[in-house]
Amino acid sequence: MAKVILVDDSASARKLLGGKLRDEGYEVIEVAEATVAAEKALAEPPAAVVTDLWMPGISGLQLCRLLRSEPATAHVPVVLLTASDDRRSRFWAKHAGATAYVTKGEIDRLLAIVAESLTVSRPAPSTQASPTRGSIPERLSQLLDIALYESTIAGAVRALSQTSEDVEALWAEMATLASDVIGYRWVALVTETQPPHLYIHTHTALAEPAEREARDALGVHKLPERRKEKDHTLHLISDLRAVEAEWAAAPVQQAVRFGGSVLGQIALSPGRRGASSEDRRFMAIAATELGGPLRMVSLMNESRRLASTDSLTGLFNRRAFAHALETARERSQNALMPFSMLLIDVDHFKKVNDTLGHDAGDAVLQGVAKVLASMARKSDVVARWGGEEFVVALPQTAEAGARIAAERVRRAICDAKYPLPNGEGVQATASIGLASALDNAWSIEDLLQRADKALYSAKNRGRNRVETA
Ligand code: GH3
Ligand code: MG
Ligand code: MG
Repeated sequence: MAKVILVDDSASARKLLGGKLRDEGYEVIEVAEATVAAEKALAEPPAAVVTDLWMPGISGLQLCRLLRSEPATAHVPVVLLTASDDRRSRFWAKHAGATAYVTKGEIDRLLAIVAESLTVSRPAPSTQASPTRGSIPERLSQLLDIALYESTIAGAVRALSQTSEDVEALWAEMATLASDVIGYRWVALVTETQPPHLYIHTHTALAEPAEREARDALGVHKLPERRKEKDHTLHLISDLRAVEAEWAAAPVQQAVRFGGSVLGQIALSPGRRGASSEDRRFMAIAATELGGPLRMVSLMNESRRLASTDSLTGLFNRRAFAHALETARERSQNALMPFSMLLIDVDHFKKVNDTLGHDAGDAVLQGVAKVLASMARKSDVVARWGGEEFVVALPQTAEAGARIAAERVRRAICDAKYPLPNGEGVQATASIGLASALDNAWSIEDLLQRADKALYSAKNRGRNRVETA
């Protein structure tokens, strides 16, 4: 005979429902208080619990939460009963993990639900440790603490998308949060991007072994060798204070998802004693909540990149060029001075299009862009101005220096061989107009106008040459 615990503070309700359940052949234990019901259920898990929702003292919802959290009763069906059918009770019933929510008028439905819940095969009670201990009210208050902790961590992870501009910043904040809450040897994130990016947080002294272990754990071996210049695939934050030096336990790993797609993996190398349930809980919350911020940050970056780059050459477009100069200037009025600008126009480019085709023309433009990008210093700003015209801003460069730079650019464009889609190579030349700022009051428009005039005279004087305004 299946045993059902029936909890209701009203004696008449207990009598009515108890009778109906007994008629169906159940052994019914009637209880007036949820505390008593919880003790009985934990001591000897029943086949099902049917409980009133609102009772003095501990409510049916709290009883349901408690039974759900205990390994011995986690799979016992709990049916919540209420006098009225209101939205809020239904919402909480759903979130407390109740099997069903039934109004007291629907006795036939109640019986059907209890019968059905008993046919579902349930896993054997787990032998895992209880998350809480003590009296029933103490356990409930511990559960509340756990729920609050989890939702606070979840909220903190979700909020990272509001403060992080890119994945690196997002990870830095995530690592700060992690090290506030748990201890570890290292935590790492690898993104499912092409190429994948590996982010590690560890102690400076552990940087090398941490990287090796993180690569092992996350299966990222094919990344380019670290410390090669321009390797942007590894981001190491090393300011962790309390780390454990020995590594004995296996890392904990979780997929970070958003919707149906996997965005990456996070891994944690625990301390000497191995991963605690606290560590695992944190990682589970982090993996669940990080997907949204990660997706949001990547989308923001992607749309920013698309809006600021020229799709053919990958260089800045006109708008991004102006924006880059304005922000550089805002940062410090004098940072750009002395300042020069090159306007570069490919010679007889129409002929390339006309004789070799538009695709060949595109290939030449891409080739010229590559030459310009490879020659630029870090502070230079290179952009496609439009058509076959490019612009290069040279901060901290006076006219004499800019002439040398321009001449070098002219020669590099002239010396390069541009591979065409058909496998052949073609050469090209460009004319360059140079203008330098005369004082701090320069404007982009003014410099461009003067560079354009100089370019015009370079064209007139035979092309493949530099003229200065
Ligand atoms: P000059 O030496 O005086 O500069 O002569 P040019 O032929 O280079 O100059 P013109 O301005 O007469 O022609 C530029 C050509 O560049 C015209 C235009 O069709 C072509 N063009 C502009 N944008 C692109 C592009 O994105 N791809 C290709 N293939 N051609 C382009
Ligand atoms: Mg032109
Ligand atoms: Mg041209």
